[in-house]
Amino acid sequence: MDQVFAPWRIEWVEREGGNDDVDGCVFCAFAEGDRDRDRDRWVVARSERSFVLMNNYPYSPGHVMVIPHAHTGDYRDLDDEALLDHARLKQRTFDALDDGLGPDAYNAGLNLGGGAAGGSIDDHLHTHVVPRWEGDTNFMPVISDTQVIVEAVDDSYDRLREAFAEQDGAEVTGEDRAVVFSE
Ligand SMILES: [Zn+2]
Repeated sequence: MDQVFAPWRIEWVEREGGNDDVDGCVFCAFAEGDRDRDRDRWVVARSERSFVLMNNYPYSPGHVMVIPHAHTGDYRDLDDEALLDHARLKQRTFDALDDGLGPDAYNAGLNLGGGAAGGSIDDHLHTHVVPRWEGDTNFMPVISDTQVIVEAVDDSYDRLREAFAEQDGAEVTGEDRAVVFSE
């Protein structure tokens, strides 16, 4: 039974230099955070009310989370604007992954309600988007070396950021900043 595919259970764990200065909810801190630290924190794209964050411990290359700014663990709390914004950013994320990494398929799922859902950040809902390749397996046991994982995520970050930057409506305001969609 240890082969069950359950990337949603992977904890988003503190990464040295990434969120060591954050008190409270990391997703809220990153939502409002210093844009010049986006690259350092692996925030790859931002819309008006959501953002895309690389997973620190990817299930597969390009594993990201699409996170609404609203701090809630209940999907029903999101208003129409937040729902649409989050959904559109997910569409852009699939496009960026297609162009940047070209996987064969995706698994995408919502983590709700913190610990009760096996989620990572208490009470701040987020969608995991996990690219899949034919015959893939959990990437983590394959590359368990931390430095290799960091390099792999950095590489995925660059490819995705470039792909987001080429989309209609993309704004790039700095080398270390996430791509912004403000429409
Ligand atoms: Zn939060």
